[in-house]
Order: sequence, then C-alpha cells, then structure tokens
Amino acid sequence: MLKRQNQTNDQNSVDRSAPIATIINVQTEVPISCDQCDCDTHYSIGHLKALPTLTCEFCQDARSFTQLEMNVLESALQQMGFYLAGAKA
Ligand SMILES: [Zn+2]
Repeated sequence: MLKRQNQTNDQNSVDRSAPIATIINVQTEVPISCDQCDCDTHYSIGHLKALPTLTCEFCQDARSFTQLEMNVLESALQQMGFYLAGAKA
C-alpha cells in the first residue's frame, strides 16, 4: 500500500508578480503630432475618445482623429503599463 504523506504545500500561495499597472484617467493629456508642421498639440484622452476633429495649435491644420488611432494609442499606452480608467470605447 502506498503510504504517501500528504506533503503538498498548505500555503498554496501563488506569487503574483504581475507588474503594477498604472490607471490613467480620461483627463490625462497626450501629445498628437501634426502632419503638417510636426508640432505636438496636447489633447485629453477623454476628448480623443470622442474621435474629434483635431486642430493644430500652431498651423491650424485640421484633421479627424480616427478609431484606429484611438486603438493604437490605447494599446501603446498599455504596452507602457498604462491602462485607461473605464476604457470601454
Ligand atoms: Zn501643425
């Protein structure tokens, strides 16, 4: 007969060494560079989520911010460890 002592670790503690994510809120401003003059204009993430028309502060060039860019921005932030609060886009 096998007389195996139950030697499993009682403390089944999984060391969750997950990196700590920083949650950023929609007020956080990110720089968006202008196609025309390459200058950065800062917009809040909440503003960008509405996919607005972006007007450059420097040359007044206007273009629309697309859902694709929003997705790219969001995943880029996530790669840096930043997660959007209440991101449901
Ligand atoms: Zn510009």
